[in-house]
Amino acid sequence: MAAAIIDGSAVAARVRAEVAEAVARRVAAGLPAPGLATILVGDDPASGVYIGGKQRDCKEVGINGFDHRLGADVSQREVADLIDACNADAAVSGMILQLPVPEGLDSAALIARIDPRKDVDGLTPTSAGALAQGRPGLRPCTPVGVIELLDDAGVELRGAEAVVIGRSQLVGRPVAQLLIQRDATVTVCHSKTRDLSSVCLRADVLVAAAGVTRLVQGDWVREGAVVIDVGMHRLDEGLVGDVDFAAASERASAITPVPGGVGPMTRAMLLRNTLAAAEALDAPTGD
Ligand code: NAD
Repeated sequence: MAAAIIDGSAVAARVRAEVAEAVARRVAAGLPAPGLATILVGDDPASGVYIGGKQRDCKEVGINGFDHRLGADVSQREVADLIDACNADAAVSGMILQLPVPEGLDSAALIARIDPRKDVDGLTPTSAGALAQGRPGLRPCTPVGVIELLDDAGVELRGAEAVVIGRSQLVGRPVAQLLIQRDATVTVCHSKTRDLSSVCLRADVLVAAAGVTRLVQGDWVREGAVVIDVGMHRLDEGLVGDVDFAAASERASAITPVPGGVGPMTRAMLLRNTLAAAEALDAPTGD
């Protein structure tokens, strides 16, 4: 079987167009455009590229971007003060602290400082708790992007056997939670899982987020399974994922490529989250 390619770039373009339309409607109705504050600490080149991309994406859909850059030697207090200022700024609907932050800063404490209503990366303990309890809240971008791709491909999640490789706060855990919410039967694997290939072979839906180049071999994939590859590894040959794409494509019914799969979705979902945060902040609180 040659797998259908799940085109993340196309789905992301659709999501961006929907966000752009909704932003234009807001502005036409006299509401402020949503605003996204990005905070980058230090001069990590890859992080700089990611932030540049996020800021460009904002511009493209009419979201105001606030690009904050702090030196690597900044204190915890100074970053906390900037987060507090963004929390208090009505022009900021969403904010992200680009990770990793330089050594010496306590990233968990900084993330926890973000107003959960503006937590468009979905990483605060409040957002993670809401997700774990199935309550409304902002969800992490890559995991919601994965679900959006599965929905767009028409994959039935209810009752499906889903296997997630990875248990990180950023990807594995929230993906698993979202799949549970969608009534899948979810197994979460990690670096201590025994006989990973046998567990993967059970999957109707296999999500690979281990951060190990081509970990998932073709014969780990059940005939007809849907494979979502979250991994991203920059090698001399180009960008590759956690899945041996060529071999897995022989058995899967549908698969995401790398690049052009989950990556573009992560960026698009950040825009959607920023719009959702702006809409929620508009709503009267009753205070
Ligand atoms: P992480 O290192 O925080 O977590 C990796 C997880 O995989 C851990 O829970 C670990 O237990 C598990 N793991 C590691 N080796 C394993 C093995 N051999 N077998 C089974 N499990 C194993 O990484 P992360 O932040 O969750 O990211 C995972 C991958 O996804 C990375 O390649 C990262 O670059 C990529 N990523 C991509 C996007 C995107 O937009 N496409 C976004 C975030 C992360």
